[in-house]
Amino acid sequence: MAAVPQPANAHVHSADYLYQEYGVDLGLEELVAPPNGLKHRLLASSSREALVDAARRFYRESWKAGVGLVVDFRELGGLGCLTAREALDGVEGGLQVLILGRPGPGWPRGCDGLGISSPLDYSESELASLAKHRPAMAHVAETRDSRLGGDLELALRYGFDGVVHGVYLDRGDLEYMRSRGVGLVLCVRSNMWHGIGLPPLTDVIGSGVTVGLGTDNASWIPPDVWEEARALLFLARLRGVKRSARWILESLLVGGYRIVGSSPKLIVEGGPARFLLFHISHGNLGGMGDPYYWLLKRVGMHSLYARIDDGRVHRLGFAEAGVY
Ligand SMILES: [Zn+2]
Repeated sequence: MAAVPQPANAHVHSADYLYQEYGVDLGLEELVAPPNGLKHRLLASSSREALVDAARRFYRESWKAGVGLVVDFRELGGLGCLTAREALDGVEGGLQVLILGRPGPGWPRGCDGLGISSPLDYSESELASLAKHRPAMAHVAETRDSRLGGDLELALRYGFDGVVHGVYLDRGDLEYMRSRGVGLVLCVRSNMWHGIGLPPLTDVIGSGVTVGLGTDNASWIPPDVWEEARALLFLARLRGVKRSARWILESLLVGGYRIVGSSPKLIVEGGPARFLLFHISHGNLGGMGDPYYWLLKRVGMHSLYARIDDGRVHRLGFAEAGVY
C-alpha cells in the first residue's frame, strides 16, 4: 500500500455534468462563452432539481476519486451557488468544496467567493467591487485575444488570488505573477479538447508560481484529477522537461489548496488522519528508480483502495471489485 495525501481539483464547472459530451463539433466560443454559448443556453433551461442532481453526481465522483478539495466555478449567479450547496447535503464528509459564483440573479447568496469567465467581461469599477469576494479567481489568457485584451493586468490590478489556464502567458507575465503571489491553475486536457493550445509548460515549471491542476468543464472532461496530472506529465516530457513528476505532485497535492488560501491535507505525524491508500503491486516504493514518476504514472481511481477522512476509513471501488 502507498499512503498519499488527498489532491485538490483546483478548477471545475460541476454544472456541466448535466450535459455530457454535448456540442462536440463546436469551438470554445460557441460552447462556453457567456451568455449565449451552448452550455449557458442549456443551463438556463434546466430545472433546479436537475442542477442539484448534476452537482451532487459530480461531487460524489470526486469523492470516489479521493479528491480533498474541489474549487467549483458555478454559473447562474446565486442560483448556481445555492444549488451547489444543496447538492453537498448528499455527499459523504471529507470532500471540501469551494463554491465560487459569478454575478447574476441572487448573487452572491450561497457563494464562497468569486469565479468569473473573464475580467474583460466587467468594467473596472465592477471588478473592484466583485474582487472583494475572496477567494477571487478568473479565466485568464485562455485565448490569444483575451491575453491581448489585458485580462491578466486586470486580474492583478484587482488582487485576484489565482488565474486559470494561462495558455498565452509569457515569461514576463509569470514573473509578474510570482512577485505578486498570484497562482495559476493548469487545465491541459481542457485546453487540448477545445483545441486552443497549451500553456508554456517549460516556463511555468521553472517560474516559481504556485500551480494547481483542474479538470475544468465537466461536460467534456471527467473529474479524475489523477488523469489530469498524468496528461500534464506526458506533455511536460514532450516539451523536454525531464524532471517534472515531483513538481506535478506538489501542484496536485499542495498548490491547488494554497492558491485559494486553504490548507493542504498533508500527512503529518500527530495531525488529522486524512489521506488515501493505493494498492501497489510491488509492495513498496523503495525499489523504484524515481518514486515520483512511478506514483504519478501508476496510481489512479483503478488502484484507489481506501480514503481516510478524520480517522474514518472508507473502502473504495478497487477493494469492492475484489482485485487486490
Ligand atoms: Zn473553466
